Amino acid sequence: MSNQRERILSFVPIETIPLPRPLNRFGTAFPTALAEIYATAYAPRRGVVLDPLAHPWSAADAVESADRRGIAKSREPLGEWARAVVVLAPSLDEVLAGFERVADSVLVGTPHRVAMRELYASHCATCHGPVVVEAFLWERDAPVPTKKAFRCGVCAREGRALLIEPVDNEDEERTRRLEPRGMAYWQFVERFGADPAAQALAETVAALYTPRNITALMATLRAIETSVGDAGAQGLLKLCLLESIVAGSRLNAVAGHGTPLRIDKGRARRGHASQTREVNIWLEYERTVRELVTWLAQHEHRTPAVRGGLLLDPGDADLVLCQAPVEDALGGWSTVASALLLGAKTLRPMDTGEGRLASRERLLRTLRAALIEAHRVSRPEAAAVVFVPQADTATIAACVLAGAGGGYRLRTILYQRDAHAGAYGAPAAAVCDFDRDVPLLRDQSAADAGLIEDAIRAGVRDAVLARGEPVREEVAAVAALQSLAAKGLLVPIALARAGGVSELELFLDHFKSALADGRRTGITRVPLSDDADDVAYAITEAPDATPLGDRVEWAVWGLLSSAREVDTRSLLRRVYGLFRGIETPDRELVERCVAAYATQTDDGRWRLLDQDALVARQASQAQVLAELIDAGHRLGFKVHVGRDVERRAVPQSHQERGRALADLVGEAERSSGASRFVRGASDALDFVDCVWYDKGRMVFLWQVDWTARIHRSVVALGEAIPDDDRVFRFLAVADERTGLVHEKLRRSPALAEVVRRRGWRFVKWDPLRRWLRDAQAGLDGLEPVLGLEPAVEQSGQQLAFRW
Ligand SMILES: [Zn+2]
Repeated sequence: MSNQRERILSFVPIETIPLPRPLNRFGTAFPTALAEIYATAYAPRRGVVLDPLAHPWSAADAVESADRRGIAKSREPLGEWARAVVVLAPSLDEVLAGFERVADSVLVGTPHRVAMRELYASHCATCHGPVVVEAFLWERDAPVPTKKAFRCGVCAREGRALLIEPVDNEDEERTRRLEPRGMAYWQFVERFGADPAAQALAETVAALYTPRNITALMATLRAIETSVGDAGAQGLLKLCLLESIVAGSRLNAVAGHGTPLRIDKGRARRGHASQTREVNIWLEYERTVRELVTWLAQHEHRTPAVRGGLLLDPGDADLVLCQAPVEDALGGWSTVASALLLGAKTLRPMDTGEGRLASRERLLRTLRAALIEAHRVSRPEAAAVVFVPQADTATIAACVLAGAGGGYRLRTILYQRDAHAGAYGAPAAAVCDFDRDVPLLRDQSAADAGLIEDAIRAGVRDAVLARGEPVREEVAAVAALQSLAAKGLLVPIALARAGGVSELELFLDHFKSALADGRRTGITRVPLSDDADDVAYAITEAPDATPLGDRVEWAVWGLLSSAREVDTRSLLRRVYGLFRGIETPDRELVERCVAAYATQTDDGRWRLLDQDALVARQASQAQVLAELIDAGHRLGFKVHVGRDVERRAVPQSHQERGRALADLVGEAERSSGASRFVRGASDALDFVDCVWYDKGRMVFLWQVDWTARIHRSVVALGEAIPDDDRVFRFLAVADERTGLVHEKLRRSPALAEVVRRRGWRFVKWDPLRRWLRDAQAGLDGLEPVLGLEPAVEQSGQQLAFRW
């Protein structure tokens, strides 16, 4: 289906807000900037955006700030319910009042709060004063806990410090007195409904709780349901119990935060931790309620518009927008919480076998089902956009195949390495942008493996050419997927699940095989580290295109020099705007370029360093060159000045000797040239900034740069000049660029290899100039000033060097 809309081709700086418990168990908040860009471009004002994998603060909420209306749907009833509960919650005072009614509820004779205190009661091991245990620690399969964690108001820091002591006889006795399959156990099982399969699952889940915790859990749930009349307040108070359901089970390892539940063959899988923590369900619940209420007060979004969105018809959706469920932090807890909090009628069929599925397969299935449903109900022209918050090769491929299997045609993938501020285990993010395709035909013919692998290689080649540098695996995979989509080969792969091999495995196999066979087609592997799998892909006969890293650096400088002061976000956005699609630059590279050229004002805005203004830099570069010319003459060399810089004005210090740098060398030098001193040298030699030659047949090549764009010097020029025993290569860089040069070499092992092989010597301007201006200095004084950390800057070290 053709589409006239202008596509988003530039990455958007991603920022997300951290969600409080228990909302964070559903997934991370959808980045607002991303929602705004796509909703604005792909849906009209007041248009409808359908989020088929909704949960609190997912895309359905995020589009509100762009004046679009979000509809939340979900295959899992829990996420959609949780979002509605948050939207419909009454004033937060009313929620807190509801909580007090739960605490005071006298369903079993004593107020619930008192009953809970008694359930977890113990004595301080030191002073024997009464305490409430916050957690018992259990060894695997032990009949009683071994330790207890509590705060004692008498012994330790006014009750603030958490003390951990061995349990005593009384604790053991209290634990044994609780019936393993008491009333609470059966109440729990009953919530799953009458279906025998559901009951069987329920029993295995109930067994994940200690008798104490299942008692607390069911008593609290019953207290919420019976003492809070207002449906809105009751909903939010039930939602908070999700935290206790997850954190209160035996899957909770000592250091953990609650593990996703895996359901295998209709049974809950037990945990493997050698020690588990039996948290105090009631304390956990109270903390969650207070934390959520406080957070909601600061992040108000229960607007009338959002509430109105609950009534919208998904058939009006202009855009489908969601976040790939990469984490699945709940797993089977979603089913369990649905049964306990929403009632058994919403219980999905058993997740038979899903416990064994690799997480990417689960992601593919969940996303595909969501997109099939979205495709079915949305407008015929509605695009689909999937944000992938943790984008590795398999995850991106799973999302793209889910889209293809759901009836969408991939248009673009925007992938960014290190997309998030503060790397919290999420080194990359991606956005997969789809158009609606015609509905899939099941009798789609299988694609030929040769065609598929040719398309993969063609995509990778294009990516290497576009970026002008070797590409890492993820970028190669993105390029491969886009190439397959453009050639109509994604759908056959997406439909090829057969013989136990999933479409994801099929793609990954073809991807691996296409690139392993790359030598024949000119694709080579560049090792990035000692790890054999850590490689980038390059092309053998690649033209000397300027690498992306150098272009990004130049763009950052250009933006900084045209803006007086600019904030980080605007700067990132403008840089990203210049590099589209497969050329999306790493965030870290952009930020290092910014840090190399700019200084930050008190209010966090960036300003170009004074010395990096163009006029200042051309003057300082001319100064270094003029001093190089003088020193070359003094040391007995003839000197050549490069074509690019010979017309530069001489610096103030040389004004009486001419106007341009070329005037500083003699007529004879200008006519003789350096090329006859370098065997096989081409025109490239004429472009070297400064050449010293004709002294003992030695030739010194000097490149003088104030940027860290070293590709031109080292590769474009340097590789055209053959090696010779007496050719020495120097790259003089402005001192402020040291860090960025290091970074460029670190990022590009291929470039670093050329530097090493050709014997390029780096030298910083300041130490170089001190040596050049020293009338007594000979060539033997050059060695200590060389390097990005030269010896002269270190503690009096002396190096001998023979030229
Ligand atoms: Zn004490």
